[in-house]
Amino acid sequence: MIIRGDGVAAYCCAHLLSKAGFQIELQPVDRPRLPVILLGEQALALIRDIFDQPGLFADLPRIRKRIVAWGPSAKPGTVEHSAIVVSEESLLDAIRPDLVPLGSQEVHWTIVAARPLPAPSVEHRFGSRTASAVPVTLNENSDPAACWIESLGDGWLFLVPGWLLSVGAAAETLLAGSRVVAAEMAERGRPLAEFPAYARIASPLCAPGWLACGTAAMAFDPICGDGTAHAIREAILASAVIRALAQGEHLEELLSHYEARLTAGFRRHLMLCRQFYLSGGTGAFWTSELDAIDHGIQWSDAKLRAHAGFRYQLRGLELEAVL
Ligand SMILES: Cc1cc2nc3c(=O)[nH]c(=O)nc-3n(C[C@H](O)[C@H](O)[C@H](O)COP(=O)(O)OP(=O)(O)OC[C@H]3O[C@@H](n4cnc5c(N)ncnc54)[C@H](O)[C@@H]3O)c2cc1C
Repeated sequence: MIIRGDGVAAYCCAHLLSKAGFQIELQPVDRPRLPVILLGEQALALIRDIFDQPGLFADLPRIRKRIVAWGPSAKPGTVEHSAIVVSEESLLDAIRPDLVPLGSQEVHWTIVAARPLPAPSVEHRFGSRTASAVPVTLNENSDPAACWIESLGDGWLFLVPGWLLSVGAAAETLLAGSRVVAAEMAERGRPLAEFPAYARIASPLCAPGWLACGTAAMAFDPICGDGTAHAIREAILASAVIRALAQGEHLEELLSHYEARLTAGFRRHLMLCRQFYLSGGTGAFWTSELDAIDHGIQWSDAKLRAHAGFRYQLRGLELEAVL
């Protein structure tokens, strides 16, 4: 089978399916890498477990606290945290599977973990905000084991040692009104890349012959900080669907299960985002992004209403039919 993409989702599908005896060809695509990803304790544990690497990133320094000022004139509060900061490149280097090309073998299934999506699938977008990543240095007396999150009139800022993520407006615009983040920074470089930062989902997410997975299937707002763990959970489900198909389980029911499970996960993400965008600010940026999120929730509800109920459940890495 073919797995198109070279992100976490593609690597996870390739790892799980080759371990289960499938022959896999990875088809990489060229795209910008994220300079920084924050991986919380649970996401890191999941990656270590799935990729059989119990000591992965054990030597990286930890972020131990999150300093949050969210909402108009909110005072900064401190929340305990445990996370590591890695570049997407180093994460992918650590989990890249070792595969050989398929040659002339017949291919029955493709996991689409990178655009373009097969027809008739289209992407539904619920927002318009973008994020840019800017290299920075912290002040001498800033805590190197902290990260900072601040909402402002036209967007929000997220600072980790080495990087500033600016969402909704350019870093200089947001920093001009910043009460928390700006005070922690000594120097700022030029923005490296701009990424869409609103939630979006492909529909349909699968059809006979292909399954969409990872960001190609659903993309998440970085405010929730769980995109990587989501991509891995989608890859676990996609791989389980492929294995269940190979064992003769019912094609349409499996595809319907996959579509509904992913849509339900997307709805949960929108509900989480809703709380942030409801409380982050009151200006045009916040109200228009909140409207788009609400539209996404209604869209997901309509999709889920058409689903008859879950006939499978995941046990470990396997899908089992429930009676
Ligand atoms: C700005 C930003 C910050 C993030 N921070 C975190 C974080 O701190 N922790 C975390 O767990 N997850 C974070 N994520 C999400 C995480 O990067 C993805 O969920 C994860 O990499 C998905 O893996 P994948 O295999 O689907 O990747 P892919 O589909 O290969 O994509 C990986 C990333 O690259 C971006 N991308 C893909 N194609 C393009 C393109 N053509 N142009 C521009 N960008 C593209 C995607 O939006 C995605 O975030 C962030 C995402 C963004 C956009």
